[in-house]
Amino acid sequence: MDISFVIPCYNEKDNVRVVYETIRKIFSEKQISFEAVMVNDGSKDGTEKELKKLYADYPDGTLKVVSFSRNFGKEAAILCGLKHTTGDAVCFIDADMQQRPEVALAMYEKLISTEDIDCVAAYQKSRKENFLLSFFKKCFYFFINLITTTRFTPGASDFRVISRRMANAILSMQEYFRFSKGLFSWVGFETYFMEYTVEERLSGSSKWSFWKLFKYALEGIIGYSTVPLSISNVLGILLMLGGLGLLIAGLIISDTVMTILGVVLLVGGLILLMIGITGMYISRIYLQGKNRPIYIEKDVLEGETDGCSR
Ligand code: UDP
Ligand code: MG
Repeated sequence: MDISFVIPCYNEKDNVRVVYETIRKIFSEKQISFEAVMVNDGSKDGTEKELKKLYADYPDGTLKVVSFSRNFGKEAAILCGLKHTTGDAVCFIDADMQQRPEVALAMYEKLISTEDIDCVAAYQKSRKENFLLSFFKKCFYFFINLITTTRFTPGASDFRVISRRMANAILSMQEYFRFSKGLFSWVGFETYFMEYTVEERLSGSSKWSFWKLFKYALEGIIGYSTVPLSISNVLGILLMLGGLGLLIAGLIISDTVMTILGVVLLVGGLILLMIGITGMYISRIYLQGKNRPIYIEKDVLEGETDGCSR
């Protein structure tokens, strides 16, 4: 199997057939063997029925359909789909035709024709969305890159084609709260960014409200950085230093108010510092709890070769 498609579907009844048939047409024409894993994420609009019909229409093993018992979210659908893939490459693509299968083909061709890359990610240079949303997204990328060591590329989407070894690396990340953009980056490997333009949705509407996006962004920040947990460390030390200064000055010039203020700040700072230290322990428990692999092997060369060792 050359390539597997992972397609999360939530209330996409008018789109699922088109997306599958377009992929089928494009990849069969090129004689690339493929499968599509369509994950129905607890849709309420008859997507499941439509997927079952589609499955009956194409009984040649190129379609797998998984249905969730309720809506678990796109990240869960992607993970589930990925677990069911068997292809040498995996493409993550939405069910609404905003990400064109023709682009997926170009991405796949790039992946197999370039030796050192394991991931081709579609990326938007300019976003077709309102100014405010664009602004908040820019702020998000600036902030998250400031406080994490994992790199987040602005404009890079989840629309990607990855190699089997990278897919396996992502599957080895067992964390419960998943944030794909972070996972793709955290596992490493070379990524090639290919520019593309997002199309309009074929039908239906976006499932991401501003509030949902905001919560998702927080998920990314908390999932990849423990800096917020150590904020009180810094504040505590600053307060303590300020308090100490005031206390000494108050004692020297015999100013009772200043002395008392100094003591209050000193004690407050000390408490904050202690909370920060507790936070450092909690952050370690948190990171350990994620159970991330300690390393990811890209290549292993071992055993006998018929090279020039003679
Ligand atoms: N999706 C999903 N579960 C959800 C929300 C969305 O599986 O709870 C799927 C949806 O069907 C689509 C993809 O995730 O295939 C992207 O969603 P959407 O098009 O709403 O996001 P946008 O393109 O507006 O960012
Ligand atoms: Mg969409």
